[in-house]
Amino acid sequence: MSFTRRSFLVGGGTSASLLVLTACTDTSPNPTATPTPEPTNSVPTPTSLQRSDWTNDAFALGAVSFLPVGATPLHRENLSQNVLGRVFFAGEAPSEEPSTVRGARSSGSRAARELFDVAGEGERIAVIGAGAAGAQCARRLTALGLTVIVLEARDRTGGRIHSIEGDDGQFTELGAWRLGVDSDAEIVATLDRLDVASVPAEGLDLIRDSATDAEVLTPPPVVPDAAAPNTVGATAVASAVAWAAEQAADSTLETALDASGALAAAAGASQGELEGEPLLQQYLRSLAAVTGAEASAASAWFTPEPSTEASRIVTGSFVSLLDDDLDGIETYLSTAVVGVSYDDDGVRLRLGTGESLSVDRVVVTVPLGVLKAATIEFTPLLPFGHRAAINAISVGAVELVQARFDEPFWTTDAVTWSLVGTDELITTWVNMLPLTGEPVLTGVVGGDAGIALAGLNENELAELVRSSLAPFAESV
Ligand SMILES: Cc1cc2nc3c(=O)[nH]c(=O)nc-3n(C[C@H](O)[C@H](O)[C@H](O)COP(=O)(O)OP(=O)(O)OC[C@H]3O[C@@H](n4cnc5c(N)ncnc54)[C@H](O)[C@@H]3O)c2cc1C
Repeated sequence: MSFTRRSFLVGGGTSASLLVLTACTDTSPNPTATPTPEPTNSVPTPTSLQRSDWTNDAFALGAVSFLPVGATPLHRENLSQNVLGRVFFAGEAPSEEPSTVRGARSSGSRAARELFDVAGEGERIAVIGAGAAGAQCARRLTALGLTVIVLEARDRTGGRIHSIEGDDGQFTELGAWRLGVDSDAEIVATLDRLDVASVPAEGLDLIRDSATDAEVLTPPPVVPDAAAPNTVGATAVASAVAWAAEQAADSTLETALDASGALAAAAGASQGELEGEPLLQQYLRSLAAVTGAEASAASAWFTPEPSTEASRIVTGSFVSLLDDDLDGIETYLSTAVVGVSYDDDGVRLRLGTGESLSVDRVVVTVPLGVLKAATIEFTPLLPFGHRAAINAISVGAVELVQARFDEPFWTTDAVTWSLVGTDELITTWVNMLPLTGEPVLTGVVGGDAGIALAGLNENELAELVRSSLAPFAESV
């Protein structure tokens, strides 16, 4: 793979000349090991605390896309259409499996096939973005015999896959980190081939009610014939979604919960010693941690079904998957595209440095948040269908916090910990100790709580981590 900051070939159509670029910087905040204040509860100070900040990251501007009221999968399809056979779109938002690495990759393959159908021999193609979609698209186009360059605004590949190697050789993932055993079988097999470690995320779920100190340990729903955890939440959401699907007009999940009677049913229900309503709230928080959407914003028609698939957590360098795709492909880092001008004859790209570059066709894989912010100017304007889709689909917030400890302060070997009946921002933790032997906890936060988390400074975050973990210091 050729990763360059300072120079690359620039050409009009298929002819090439040399252009020297000055390096742009990745404006996304770099995760840092955070010094934490003195302990005020029984949770020790983490030896390191790393956080994502997709909400404020200029080259993401949000975590993953979701469909709010008024948007439909047709908007995603419209966004995936090419314009004049010159400008193609790929990425998680214009994919059939949004919010996932596999969806982004398959949309990259789809765009490559479409482009190849109209391309002439020896054409020169630019792919904007070295994330999952861009890397897969570039690989496919190269295999089809086209000349491909990849232009990436950050000083790293991977996009919303962000693998950070610590001094001890351990990896932290601050973006995509989990894979379905079946749905992601191809990615898991490729990671195996690349010697990138992943572990089965198998174990018990612990749900703890902060208000009453009650807690239950339940098997996750992947265990055959076992009672699903959070059944109150799952049942209530399922009944609301079923109700919403029968209505003439779309509604938010929150409205559907209310109108279907699911909220009232949950309020009177219980699971073990736990009250139904906090369980429902926790269930909605866990949905937000996957979709980035609050129940008050997400369309009830298109709320994803609760997943019962067994999963694996990537513990090696996830980004190796993309670097493998990009192997041998000219990839220019720190190269932000700010303008795309297109007509029947070709495409001219304007770079953040002021230079420009001519290619035959372009594949745009930047995140929906970047398209919404219009940091890339399209000339002429994109067709109405694309602009309507960019407006209609929303971008949700998901943030991860990884806390590493010298030794575990907890005794439970449950893998997923949920806190209900609390206003804490972090209510879901994944305990890596039973999976890897490392005393590491990963907090997952979505929706409004994710946005609030992204607004905390490092001391505030450290304090929040310790307070939200305090109830688990006393768990069984
Ligand atoms: C916190 C979090 C957790 C997640 N967890 C999972 C998970 O467990 N499993 C899963 O399957 N998926 C998960 N996802 C979703 C998954 O990460 C994404 O669906 C996927 O990585 C998106 O790939 P992409 O290529 O569409 O976009 P990106 O990876 O965002 O790639 C787009 C690229 O375009 C670049 N770019 C932006 N603007 C410009 C510009 N002007 N010029 C040039 N380049 C530009 C960006 O820097 C970026 O590298 C998670 C996402 C987040 C944020």
